[in-house]
Amino acid sequence: MNILVSHCFLGEPCRYDGASRLDRQIIELHRAGHNLIPVCPEVLGGLDVPRSPAEIQPDGRVLTQDGRDVTAAYQAGAERVLEIARENGCTVAVLKSRSPSCGCGEVYDGTFTHTLKPGWGIAARLLADAGIEVMDEEHLQASLFL
Ligand code: SF4
Repeated sequence: MNILVSHCFLGEPCRYDGASRLDRQIIELHRAGHNLIPVCPEVLGGLDVPRSPAEIQPDGRVLTQDGRDVTAAYQAGAERVLEIARENGCTVAVLKSRSPSCGCGEVYDGTFTHTLKPGWGIAARLLADAGIEVMDEEHLQASLFL
């Protein structure tokens, strides 16, 4: 199966702080025979590495910690990720938890105080709305390893 994955899981240093989030479980998905399709919605949206941290606000906009509105870049990146998912026939995506692009079911609340709230990252939401099964690395389905 072609599985869309957050690029930072594969060691790509594309996070806002220039780090990666290498995840052995995701590497195991590859060993289990899946073809991993890496995407970083924020880089695909034209944002730099490193970049200011950003959080989704209660009104849906994405603002950086220094107050810049980066909603359009987040949206553009999400749309490109959906195109890539469709081009590759992906029906499953495994994305990084709590990110304002990739978070699945839980994101930071927009106050930059490390406070979580229920919600979805911009790209994760777009993929889920398009019918793709989206999960984070903390809720990987055991069936993917069979
Ligand atoms: S946008 Fe997603 S893929 Fe890119 S660094 Fe953040 S969590 Fe990783």
